[in-house]
Amino acid sequence: MSSGPAAALPRRASVPVERPVLVRVRKRLDAIFRLGAVIDDTPEELATSKSVMIQAMGNVRPGALILADSRLCENPTCFIEFVPRHPRQRFHSARCRELNRRGGK
Ligand SMILES: [Zn+2]
Repeated sequence: MSSGPAAALPRRASVPVERPVLVRVRKRLDAIFRLGAVIDDTPEELATSKSVMIQAMGNVRPGALILADSRLCENPTCFIEFVPRHPRQRFHSARCRELNRRGGK
């Protein structure tokens, strides 16, 4: 792991943070899309879901309904938030699982 000022920051500091004005715009757009979905007889699950930006490795089509919650990888040197393939998955990759088993070395 690198040293210097960045190393002293909390783990989640490397996750991009949305600017407040963009958060407000996104929330309004979500509300507009939800209202449109209600008018268009869209299924309730889609109408009550929220739009988020994701990075997909699997075959995820635009607008797909993701049913699981994301979680932070439990490898202390990793900052990746991921949607687990199964409820007991603790690490985003086999490499992170192995690094954690060895104590991060
Ligand atoms: Zn990881």
